[in-house]
Amino acid sequence: MRMYDIIMKKRNGGMLTKAEIEYMINAYVAGSIPDYQMSAMLMAIYFQGMTDAELSVMTLCMAHSGDMIDLSSIPGIKVDKHSTGGVGDKTTLIVAPIVAACGGRVAKMSGRGLGHTGGTVDKMESIPGMRTAIAEEEFFAIVKEHGLSVIGQSGELAPADKKLYALRDVTATVESIPLIASSIMSKKLAAGSDAILLDVKTGSGAFMKTVEDSINLAEKMVAIGERNGRKTVALITDMDIPLGHAIGNSLEIVEVVKTLQGNGPIDLLQESLEIAANMLYLSQKGTLAFCRKLAARAVADGSAFQKLVAMVAAQGGAIDVLQDTEKFAKAPCRGTVRADRDGFISRMHTEKCGMASVLLGAGREVKDAPIDFSAGIIMEKKTGDYVKKGDVLATLFTAKKESLAPATALYREALTFDGAVPVEKPLVLARITAEGVERYDQ
Ligand code: URA
Repeated sequence: MRMYDIIMKKRNGGMLTKAEIEYMINAYVAGSIPDYQMSAMLMAIYFQGMTDAELSVMTLCMAHSGDMIDLSSIPGIKVDKHSTGGVGDKTTLIVAPIVAACGGRVAKMSGRGLGHTGGTVDKMESIPGMRTAIAEEEFFAIVKEHGLSVIGQSGELAPADKKLYALRDVTATVESIPLIASSIMSKKLAAGSDAILLDVKTGSGAFMKTVEDSINLAEKMVAIGERNGRKTVALITDMDIPLGHAIGNSLEIVEVVKTLQGNGPIDLLQESLEIAANMLYLSQKGTLAFCRKLAARAVADGSAFQKLVAMVAAQGGAIDVLQDTEKFAKAPCRGTVRADRDGFISRMHTEKCGMASVLLGAGREVKDAPIDFSAGIIMEKKTGDYVKKGDVLATLFTAKKESLAPATALYREALTFDGAVPVEKPLVLARITAEGVERYDQ
């Protein structure tokens, strides 16, 4: 087999065979196909796309390039969740406890933040003592005992994706729906859960800027999951506005606690309940309507909050900060962003809100940079709110006083004001299953 022929076949719109795809991925990981040939293939895929059958084979092959986590020693259906990344998206730490409180099992590996988006592992590490690097046996034991554990990625999941992603990054082939779908799903297949809930974000703070592109990506990912024996459902959720009111690690943990105690922002609660209900549905706990009731009850009766406390304690975290969130370390410097006019906030450029929080120290501009857990933003007003000149729009928290002025300027730039009431959109815009697409926005 020659890589040259495989590239030409894809370039001309042909469909690759299983043997060709396996040869290409395995030889690339082994180093016998050079980057320049794989770059040409990525560009051919960018323009010609891939069928569901091709994608399914390629994704499984990428998953098998590294460790495949075997969760079979944990009884019951294990359900995973993946978000394509957003600003203020702390839903994992709300939905995993809800699902566990309703008898589901969540053994989840999460990532760190990069760029304008936050990461669950960073948020968790803002809880003093919290361990996110946990050996497999202990990870499994925590899930068996409490129904949930969220940790950082252990071992080597899908190294083929790591190598391909680095190449895509420098060859202008990141924004390809089949390549994004295989990248995400290779890691999900390797992570070992029986069922997968995908939260595909759409809008100004998301990878996918339009609902149509998001649905397209979701359909590809659902097809990959189902073809590889994993029950998979995707929700398209709005990222045209940051989720909840907090951006920044410990600020977001405080919001997680409030939400699980029934005092959180309504958008965050509603979206979390819908994600959790779909995960319970995938865990075969009943119809979707019944699972919605189960999820709401787990918040109302406090059982979901108790699951969060149990997981934090099992992973060495200080539970006193969850019981009294005033105990979280506070950022030494604060600033306020005030409205300079009257009107409705008609739009928030979500990526800029996320970048303002990175400037304050809450995220990383480069991989592995340290972060300031107490830095971030509390948004007092969001899209749809009417404000009067002088009202506080947001409070900024940082240890770097000099970052307040540029972060304030960027946050201001993110907001658009209008005289008219903006049209409200649903938080969950569509649901994609193997059966098809259900739209909630039409
Ligand atoms: N996230 C991933 O893991 N891969 C992509 O290609 C895009 C987003």
